[in-house]
Amino acid sequence: MRHDLINYGKIMIGEGVMNTKIIKNKFIYLIFLTALIFSLGAVPGMAAEGCNSNLMAQVFSAAEADLGAVGPQNTLIITDIGSPAESYVFLDDFYSEFYSRDLLYTKNLLTVQNSRNNPLWFAFFNKCSGKCTYIEVSYENESKISYKITENINFGKLSKTNESRAAWNEKVNNSVFNGREFAILTISNAWATGKLDYELMQCLEVHNHFCPGVSSGYVLANWMEENYPLKEGVSYTVFSCPNWCKDDVFVKRWDTTPGKGGIWVSTLTDNETEALGGSPAGIFVVTDKNAGTMKAVVLGFDFDIVNANSGVKADDPGWVSKYLADLWLMNKKNWDTQGLVSVISVKDIDADTLNKMKQADNNPYVILGLLNSTENN
Ligand SMILES: [Zn+2]
Repeated sequence: MRHDLINYGKIMIGEGVMNTKIIKNKFIYLIFLTALIFSLGAVPGMAAEGCNSNLMAQVFSAAEADLGAVGPQNTLIITDIGSPAESYVFLDDFYSEFYSRDLLYTKNLLTVQNSRNNPLWFAFFNKCSGKCTYIEVSYENESKISYKITENINFGKLSKTNESRAAWNEKVNNSVFNGREFAILTISNAWATGKLDYELMQCLEVHNHFCPGVSSGYVLANWMEENYPLKEGVSYTVFSCPNWCKDDVFVKRWDTTPGKGGIWVSTLTDNETEALGGSPAGIFVVTDKNAGTMKAVVLGFDFDIVNANSGVKADDPGWVSKYLADLWLMNKKNWDTQGLVSVISVKDIDADTLNKMKQADNNPYVILGLLNSTENN
């Protein structure tokens, strides 16, 4: 069409009557072109594509402005991209920016799960400087960076003196990372040690923070796999009773989702906890289809052992004691420490017993004969 118009222009130069025709044609052409542009803009994704790619480029540039080059040797990016409502539209552009800097999926990224009503955020951590740039974006009407801050989150530095601890406590109170200070500090520092197991990182994606609770789940999961190997035909059914952060590890690692009946969650009273030795963690039912057996393995996990060994002091703020506990639990050599994981009981059971354990009005420990039903209160 453009080609035709140019030709018309050349032929009609100097011919008055025909010039009017050209102007008319040009006018019609302009209207058509305008309509075309508007109609393209109305196609979902098409117009957004341009500004989305701009937004992800802006995010990376904003981080680089404060941290220097974002490269594979020094950087960890933590983000909830994909979880907030319709944030998936930025995924392709995000990865395009990510891979254009030679970053690696397993070395430089943790994509955490979050609720749909969370903001879309990015934390760029540079392990050499200890600096972290936290960025939130908004994209409802206009796509833009809505919040940005850079803080030094090196754990050694922050925890060194009473003054440095107080200074970080103050920043936590002011929610410098909009409430994600603990998650970003612990994950980044643990990653910087170079000893954060990638399979544990995958559990942190589901759990979206790094705490001693999720670490205990990782220890328990490994204990189960070592003692009751998850070979072909074997499956686990978990009774997370009492439940804590550990249970998200089992969901991720064994696909024991509640929807598929893999995990049953409930809690215990203080008296029940006491009657079970003070630190029950849950019941792991091992079903071996090939052997035709079913075993209920009842395990305990003792955080007193962690606290006694990880260098935690009574007056440490939570972010210090929890991170020190995480560090201790990250070291596989500590997993065999006497009393950390305890076997409360192992019982052969049948499908009927398993079904009874799942009933809403039954306490699975009572069904197994480990608690009296009168001990409930
Ligand atoms: Zn947790």
